Amino acid sequence: MTENDFGGLFAAALELNGLSAYASLADEFEKLTEELVKFNAHTNITAVRSTKDIIMKHYVDSLIVAEFVEGGRVIDIGCGGGFPTLPLALARRDVHITALDSTAKKLTFVDQCKNIFDLNIETLCARAEDAGRGKLRQTFTGATARAVAALNILCELALPFVKTGGMFIAMKGPGADEETAAAENAIQILGGKLEGNKIILLKTPGGETLTRSLIFIRKIRPTPDKYPRAYAQILKKPL
Ligand code: SAM
Repeated sequence: MTENDFGGLFAAALELNGLSAYASLADEFEKLTEELVKFNAHTNITAVRSTKDIIMKHYVDSLIVAEFVEGGRVIDIGCGGGFPTLPLALARRDVHITALDSTAKKLTFVDQCKNIFDLNIETLCARAEDAGRGKLRQTFTGATARAVAALNILCELALPFVKTGGMFIAMKGPGADEETAAAENAIQILGGKLEGNKIILLKTPGGETLTRSLIFIRKIRPTPDKYPRAYAQILKKPL
């Protein structure tokens, strides 16, 4: 299998990680890769460049959350160039995704893909801590975030968007136990309850292993009005 054999690499990566249910989306993911590489050539939205890394670090890593998203309306906080937003939107057309980021140029790519693939997405260029105080507050059945901030900080950005009964899934690398322990107070204050962590060892077709974790936080009561605070405050005095 060569670096350029997208179909072979994609199918192998999915199979190794129990995600073959999405194998029928190979053509869409191949087209997404072409668009990502083309866009990245003039506007830097990702440092991940080789086909095999894009498949593993963007697609497989994003798709592991797809089966756990409960449906309805989900917000992806700090989606950047569209991860997990774009793979999730391709895999779960039943879910409406609000793709939020404070950097407009990254959302241009997400909008472009929304049009190409006719995805159930809307983009929102805003700071999470501002939007979380506005009309979208406590309106989502779910939230996701990958590679945005430490969990105690991330919870203050994400949980205000989720309605009671909904779920925030934080997508993390290794070290979920430590992060979760450090965020216990924040989770509780913001109206959440830790439902559990899932450690996932992703296997690459090249024989490497990448450690990932999903942290599941259920919203069990409304977030108090004073949260989220201004970002400087969140950083200065994390909950
Ligand atoms: N989730 C994407 C991924 O995994 O490829 C992007 C990760 S990137 C390292 C972090 C992103 O979070 C950036 O695009 C940044 O603009 C966004 N971000 C960080 N803090 C934010 C905030 N308070 N509100 C909105 N976006 C934020």
